[in-house]
Amino acid sequence: MKIERPLLMIPGPTICTSEVLRALSKPTLSHVSSKFIEIFSETLKELKKIFLTEKAEIFVIAGSGTLAMEMSIVNICESGDNVLILSNGYFGERFKEICERYNLNVDYIEVKEWGENIQPETVRERLEKKEYKAVTLTHVDTSTGVSAKVKEIGEIVKNTDAVFIVDGVCATAGEEERIDEWNIDILFTASQKAIGVPPGLAILAFSPKALETYEKRKEPVKSYFMDIGLWKPIMDAYIEGRAAYFATPPVNMIYALHESVKQILEEGVEERFKRHQIIAKAFREALRALELQIVPVNEEYAASTVTGIYYPKGVADEEFRTNMIENGVIVAGGLGKLKGKIFRVGHMGTVQPSDILATIAAIENSLIKCGYKIKPGAGLEAAQEILTKI
Ligand code: PMP
Repeated sequence: MKIERPLLMIPGPTICTSEVLRALSKPTLSHVSSKFIEIFSETLKELKKIFLTEKAEIFVIAGSGTLAMEMSIVNICESGDNVLILSNGYFGERFKEICERYNLNVDYIEVKEWGENIQPETVRERLEKKEYKAVTLTHVDTSTGVSAKVKEIGEIVKNTDAVFIVDGVCATAGEEERIDEWNIDILFTASQKAIGVPPGLAILAFSPKALETYEKRKEPVKSYFMDIGLWKPIMDAYIEGRAAYFATPPVNMIYALHESVKQILEEGVEERFKRHQIIAKAFREALRALELQIVPVNEEYAASTVTGIYYPKGVADEEFRTNMIENGVIVAGGLGKLKGKIFRVGHMGTVQPSDILATIAAIENSLIKCGYKIKPGAGLEAAQEILTKI
């Protein structure tokens, strides 16, 4: 059966609402027109409510999550600075690669096995021994679906001079995350994840501590486009309702972001966290009923935005995912060392209970077609146990 409208359940890009998609097709305005200034100004102000910060400054730049990762590093660190990278998987490794490009002194703490979680005590011990310019942490490492202990680690880093950089690409606006309360200094995400906008925007927040660290730099930032000092007057101007130019903003993408931000705030940030938690829990109950094992070694580590699931013995990656497509649902394969061993389901952004139920049904069907013995409907029943109680 040919599927004309597949259900996109990968960990980004995610499904956008029709209002967000329609916003993209509005006539492109001049980036210095009063109408666009109004839209961008409102977007920047409202983003603070989603990032749960009153203190941090927001930057919206054309680019993807990787650009935001690199921006967080180049603006804070100078040659020879010490950086502590806390890694729960593939995107922690990426931070290491970025820092090595800039000749930083990298201390890399990684979990022994993917699925485990860096413990705050490990971070405390390391910070007592050595001074760092920055500590990086991936909130939800998309390769494993483990949600890091951001709050607890933030409590520790705040007592040092280090800037606490959190990669929220697979978390922000889905997983519970609070810049001010959790002492995050730089938080960034990309538009295509839980923010619910097509790929194309990097969104960053810099706390006063991060901006002060930038101000104290001895050498200029080694990139022109990524220099936050060149962007800050532009973001300030837009917020204050003035025109300013450094590099042309992606006007139509910002319309889409404006629309999505409005929808997120209509739902309410806390409500949105709750929806993600419930859908993720329902999904995990379904997986348990199907006797499938998730990547996080402890259920408490499991993220609300993405779940990585080991294939049961005898089920092959390609055959399973081809069957999923035939069932109308697109899921992702594994990344890095879990490639071929797991599949990943993204459940973030506009995800609703019916999406996860359709996904569970497709998983059951595909597993059966791949020769794995289950009782059809067992996963759906377990998920409904959770979903009918909300
Ligand atoms: N960090 C995390 C946690 C991610 O999930 C991703 C993308 N999957 C990135 C960084 C990189 O983002 P992008 O692909 O938009 O460059």
